[in-house]
Amino acid sequence: MQDTSLIIENQGAVRRIWLNRAGAANAQTRQMLIALDEAIADATKDESVRVIVLAGKGKHFSSGHDLKEAQEKRSDFTAQERWRYEEFHYLDYCLNIWDCPKPVVAQVQGACVAGGFMLANMADLIVAADDAWFWDSVMFSMGLAATEVLFQPWVMGLRHAKEFLFTGERITADEAYRIGMVNRVVARDMLDDATMTVAERIAQAPPFAMRALKKSLNRTYDIQGFRNAVLAHFDTHQVTHASSEFAEIRDKGMSKVIEHNKTDLEKAGE
Ligand code: ZN
Repeated sequence: MQDTSLIIENQGAVRRIWLNRAGAANAQTRQMLIALDEAIADATKDESVRVIVLAGKGKHFSSGHDLKEAQEKRSDFTAQERWRYEEFHYLDYCLNIWDCPKPVVAQVQGACVAGGFMLANMADLIVAADDAWFWDSVMFSMGLAATEVLFQPWVMGLRHAKEFLFTGERITADEAYRIGMVNRVVARDMLDDATMTVAERIAQAPPFAMRALKKSLNRTYDIQGFRNAVLAHFDTHQVTHASSEFAEIRDKGMSKVIEHNKTDLEKAGE
């Protein structure tokens, strides 16, 4: 069966990769993550592509990992099975975007939550619609130490990251802009155009110099410990998956969390 979880388009030198599960707030299934990783690799190889845009069809950028699928297919995973699964599909796939030699711009509207928030932040730039909101509820709703990739201190500063994660409260696009986490905030109906304007400008840069520059900028974070901190957190996140707190929430039924998230999305999606 043809995979429809992504739509891939070329606009000049810009490769647009759309998450295409609008009916499910672009919840990320395993199939979508595999397709996305392949799409990033394809765009990297294709010499006609200078910039990659990551976007989501519909009202929301992404509500995160598809918890319904996780509950059905992975709730009985052993610690080692979960470790392998999350290392491959969540950690490695995210770092493949972070490490992509071409510039990546995220285009974000509506909900940008948990795994969706993690995905958007692997991009180099974020252009947000004024209706975008960002939320990492994973500690409160699932008893886990945040998402698998702990990028927050690096993109919003340590003190904001602590407040954001310790309170589990959402932030608006304007707040995200104020703390330096997103580059631009535009009206919802201008989001496509505004993102393409930035992407097309970046696409005019000489590609080899751009590649070298992105490498140097990312290495600036690596020298400060980005990669080791992210890898260490992944292990810590796995420990919390093995905790009694997580088990309690899982035993109570992840469906409650899913239902709760759904209600929240519907409330916030209007
Ligand atoms: Zn996890």
